[in-house]
Amino acid sequence: MAAMAAVLRGPGRRFRWRTQALAGGVRGAARGVAAGQQDYDLLVIGGGSGGLACAKEAAQLGRKVAVVDYVEPSPQGTKWGLGGTCVNVGCIPKKLMHQAALLGGMIQDAHHYGWEVAQPIRHDWRKMAEAVQNHVKSLNWGHRVQLQDRKVKYFNIKASFINEHTVCGIAKSGKETLLSADHIVIATGGRPRYPTHIEGALEYGITSDDIFWLKESPGKTLVVGASYVALECAGFLTGIGLDTTVMMRSIPLRGFDQQMSSLVMEHMESHGTQFLKGCIPTCIKRLPDGQLQVTWEDRTSGKKDTGIFDTVLWAIGRIPETRNLNLKEVGVNINPENQKIIVDAQDVTSVPHIYAIGDVAEGRPELTPTAIMAGKLLAQRLFGQSSDLMDYNNVPTTVFTPLEYGCVGLSEEEAVARHGQEHIEVYHAYYKPLEFTVAERDASQCYIKMVCLKKPPQLVLGLHFLGPNAGEVTQGFALGIKCGASYAQVMRTVGIHPTCSEEVVKLRISKRSGLDPTVTGC
Ligand code: FAD
Ligand code: NDP
Repeated sequence: MAAMAAVLRGPGRRFRWRTQALAGGVRGAARGVAAGQQDYDLLVIGGGSGGLACAKEAAQLGRKVAVVDYVEPSPQGTKWGLGGTCVNVGCIPKKLMHQAALLGGMIQDAHHYGWEVAQPIRHDWRKMAEAVQNHVKSLNWGHRVQLQDRKVKYFNIKASFINEHTVCGIAKSGKETLLSADHIVIATGGRPRYPTHIEGALEYGITSDDIFWLKESPGKTLVVGASYVALECAGFLTGIGLDTTVMMRSIPLRGFDQQMSSLVMEHMESHGTQFLKGCIPTCIKRLPDGQLQVTWEDRTSGKKDTGIFDTVLWAIGRIPETRNLNLKEVGVNINPENQKIIVDAQDVTSVPHIYAIGDVAEGRPELTPTAIMAGKLLAQRLFGQSSDLMDYNNVPTTVFTPLEYGCVGLSEEEAVARHGQEHIEVYHAYYKPLEFTVAERDASQCYIKMVCLKKPPQLVLGLHFLGPNAGEVTQGFALGIKCGASYAQVMRTVGIHPTCSEEVVKLRISKRSGLDPTVTGC
């Protein structure tokens, strides 16, 4: 069947695309698209954090741009709209549910401050989930409007490559659309990983793709994994009053400073989250009453044990979305170990006009702001006469566990490995947030450390902050560290009193001194 060329008038711009009902016909048509005669200047595959940022920036620079985005439902059938992981099943719903949990803690504090709060307080999952989901839906809509405003053509289709300049997209209805472009950016992100050899894992387990969209409370939950997603989810589930257990096979928060990670876990344990350490699940069965019986093994003793849960949440990492893109056909190389797309510093893949950004690209942090900045910078390099590269040094991040952990720069372990113990000075303090005092909250894990070079002026290599509003605290200091701040400059920075941030500019005690790092008084 011959390709059908359709010409539609977008607001102020002409868009042209070809639609086709049969894959064979689409492939035939693709061969007819000659270089330099593409439909678009830029085609972005994936409408998440990185893809949308790149597309909007390119359109702002006057280019003809299309974005394709398609959400494959989770194995449990959960699906969502435009915006990618962060908006729908990541940062946004996570932070809002974290806020729900923090509010629970503040209600407990309230009576110390004179509020009369009727006891017992109860949390309504349905109400929270509905409010969070409505907000996410408003963001989906907002993204569509933004694309329209910037004259970016949006296709709700699942794309795969036909040739180096052409992709074929399949809509939910099965209709195929053929799109060609001079430059193609792959920004398809990743999806949660399910374990492969555990009976009942896929059938009965859910992931972060489902938890935020549950209509009913997950109830007593087992969270498997011990990284960002696992600890954040376990944190807010505990915080809203659910019986929550984390099963971790090795260490918490691999890749982060391990002293800080242990404190995060210690705080969670002392606030009700249970931990099964050194254990791996081996089987999940559904009992006649609908509950899940989980069997696990202690990795050291080999002993088996079982427990009953309402929900099992797998948080054991993510798999990049490269499987369905037909990358081999066009010569885009991936790392066979982790399926991520291999890119150079310019985000170029093994095919010169095909790029990859965000979570799908090898060696990039899996964070929204890095995906967004990489996308914008790529568009500026392609169409804006810029040569600026994304700098992945000193990227700040925060783990939104009940006691938040914000960090930027090197962990103590990394600093020692790179520079040697004798060249590193670590300043640290245990402090008590003022708000905790009247509320009689335990502040045992409120801790800060700054990792510096020992040689004056003692360049700051890393900052680690464990306490309330860690993201807000860390963001500002990240600027200083990015600008090459020294310990001496941080000490010359005037604090804002009374805050937790000011504790950073008062870090006088070095670990090496062995002095008590507990802050007393102002
Ligand atoms: P994504 O946002 O994943 O977008 C990719 C899009 O491409 C998706 O919509 C996908 O459906 C679509 N797609 C895939 N294949 C195709 C195809 N063949 N055709 C068409 N479309 C396709 N980061 C933070 O910075 N802060 C946080 O607090 C934070 N919290 C998180 C919490 C959780 C639970 C999770 C899972 C992640 C969190 N992240 C957080 C990470 C952040 O969400 C990601 O780093 C970010 O979304 C990556 O953006 P991206 O553009 O690379 O991909
Ligand atoms: P990670 O890959 O970071 O961690 C996976 C976790 O699962 C580890 O604890 C790992 O243990 C464990 N694990 C892996 N396989 C198994 C298994 N078969 N059985 C039991 N445990 C297993 O994945 P996440 O999904 O937590 O996070 C992905 C990325 O998303 C992060 O790197 C982060 O960049 C981003 N993110 C950012 C957030 C933020 O900015 N606040 C929040 C959430 C996610 P082990 O250490 O032993 O390998």
